[in-house]
Amino acid sequence: MTALSRLLRGLGRTREILANSLRPVFGSPALDAATLEELEAALLAADLGPTLAAEVVAAVRRTARGGDARAAVREALRAAVPAAVVPAARATPHVVFVVGVNGGGKTTTVGKLAARERAAGRKVLVVAADTFRAAAVDQLERWAERSGAELIRAQRGADPAAVVFDALRAARARGAETVLVDTAGRLHTKSDLMAELAKLVRVAGREVPGAPHEVLLVVDATTGQNGLAQAEEFTRAAPLSGVVLTKLDGTAKGGIAFGIQRRIGVGVRYVGVGEAVEDLLDFDPDAYVEGLLA
Ligand code: GDP
Repeated sequence: MTALSRLLRGLGRTREILANSLRPVFGSPALDAATLEELEAALLAADLGPTLAAEVVAAVRRTARGGDARAAVREALRAAVPAAVVPAARATPHVVFVVGVNGGGKTTTVGKLAARERAAGRKVLVVAADTFRAAAVDQLERWAERSGAELIRAQRGADPAAVVFDALRAARARGAETVLVDTAGRLHTKSDLMAELAKLVRVAGREVPGAPHEVLLVVDATTGQNGLAQAEEFTRAAPLSGVVLTKLDGTAKGGIAFGIQRRIGVGVRYVGVGEAVEDLLDFDPDAYVEGLLA
């Protein structure tokens, strides 16, 4: 299965919702108010957010006196999802932090990224910096084994900053090219969590210049706009470089990608469309919009 067909399959539920209300809009030269209202409701149901939903309806309304409604919708949607910035150069080791709340898909994403990096021929070190979740570490170990990445795990309850420090030392000594750090998603309080994350960022930067070179924030697409509010907290703790939108395959609210740049300040870098190793795709805004409208 190609990446595009995986994406199309993942967006299936959202596309169904949209298709039902877009059909009359695309088919009708005379758009009545009820049709446009229905369109707006569908856009909101697919979690495009009120601002973009209103923009799309306005764009469609402008085509009522002659114009291509389909092109107007596509253009309005495309303008709302800029691509994430991909770092132009890679450092050695290239250090990537994966952050986000528990259950969102951090560990799975680290596993999938490890496999991608290995497939690109790179030496990969995976770091389990969430030292309290034994299950997450075991899960990470299986991913690492499968892809041929090395895993650094610490004793339960070890200081995550010390674990990251040691791991980066080891990465340099062993000539690792990519270091993937799976961070904690939950501590006693939110401010503890954010303080710890900020500390990990500082420690990494002291050990490897410029590290972390990427900080990927995992956002679970099924949590909708509420998930975005939680995700926003992370912007205060670490310099985010992109969002990984997971579980796009499990939601009818696949329009969530549109709100991300505005809320989080960075674009979507990857999307997760399943639990298998191949189910992490580079985010392609054009393909995403087509996947919603196709
Ligand atoms: P963490 O707590 O953030 O590390 O989350 P996990 O990586 O343990 O993932 C939580 C659950 O979500 C697991 O059952 C994963 O298999 C599942 N998961 C992660 N990413 C995706 C995805 O893109 N699609 C689907 N359907 N499930 C996913």
